[in-house]
Amino acid sequence: MSQECIFCKIVKGEIPSAKVYEDDDFLVFKDINPAAPVHLLAIPKRHVARLSGAQTQDADLLGRFMLLIGTVAREQSLGSFRLIINDGEGAGQTVFHLHAHILGGSRFSEKLL
Ligand code: AMP
Ligand code: ZN
Repeated sequence: MSQECIFCKIVKGEIPSAKVYEDDDFLVFKDINPAAPVHLLAIPKRHVARLSGAQTQDADLLGRFMLLIGTVAREQSLGSFRLIINDGEGAGQTVFHLHAHILGGSRFSEKLL
């Protein structure tokens, strides 16, 4: 846990969030400033600042993180969705607690890649 981290505060319940899924290791909640009809943030509860800061010993956590995202997307009936992880300031990361943006609920006319 990091004292100042806003997502750690959400994990601890010190800041409210609209939770969609929670278990011992992960939390999925609605983004406060949605960029799509459905915009969820999936985070590991343990503070990992960014993807590129993950270590070999995080492999199991990251693997389960990906599986969880697929499960939540299915449970939320998203059908299609886009997954974005911003890593570092230059990529637009503003909260330095690893999170994956799950964007869905619309067709994406713009093809980024
Ligand atoms: P990023 O720019 O990739 O670091 O994404 C951070 C995301 O966190 C942004 O999309 C914000 O809208 C979202 N966000 C920041 N504070 C909160 C909060 N208290 N509850 C929900 N989402 C938040
Ligand atoms: Zn944190």
